[in-house]
Amino acid sequence: MGAPRILVAEDDGPIREIVVHHLARDGFAPIEAPDGATALRIARDGTDLIVLDVGLPGVDGFEITRTLRREGRQTPVIMLTARADEIDRVVGLELGADDYIAKPFSPREVVARVRVVLRRAGARYVPGPRVLRFGRLEIHEAAREARIDGVDIGLKPREYQLLRALAENVGIAMSREALLRQVWGYDFDGDDRTVDVHIRRLRQKLVEGHGLAECFQALHGYGYKFSPA
Ligand code: CA
Repeated sequence: MGAPRILVAEDDGPIREIVVHHLARDGFAPIEAPDGATALRIARDGTDLIVLDVGLPGVDGFEITRTLRREGRQTPVIMLTARADEIDRVVGLELGADDYIAKPFSPREVVARVRVVLRRAGARYVPGPRVLRFGRLEIHEAAREARIDGVDIGLKPREYQLLRALAENVGIAMSREALLRQVWGYDFDGDDRTVDVHIRRLRQKLVEGHGLAECFQALHGYGYKFSPA
């Protein structure tokens, strides 16, 4: 697991930057959002904790928290509130926020609260997206990208999903049917060769295009195994 990913949703640029700066300095991986819609999108991609300004343009902090909880997401939320009546609402409503901090605050206080809330949330904490690493190849779940030497190699969505399905089961033989089910879904009615076609494209991009060692082992009459060098 890498550093905990902390979404900092705050429209006030200087406040956002100082919080981000302090989080990064203390070993967290902050991600910034300047408005409600961006915050919601990033939150749905999965982060480990959200520092959430109540007064965001677009979708406000209350609505974001309600939406995430309604969708069953238990990502811990620390709300930043500017006014006494906002504090009353944070405390009074069953929003599912984990803590709040009243403005003005010190960035150190935010970092300290982030630590406490993350620790407290540990038991029900579901890890955010991962980065799978195989030498020069990295699979970034949050960005849905495969990168070689740090550069996105531009996989199509199915190619990415197929690579991830194989990479999650590194060294394990995967049948064509299992891969079809996982990547294309139960109601896909194409044939088994679909998998072969996409493996060929992955080979073209990874092995031929970028000089990666052969890592897709074909298992005759069965399927494939991901065996990176
Ligand atoms: Ca604000």
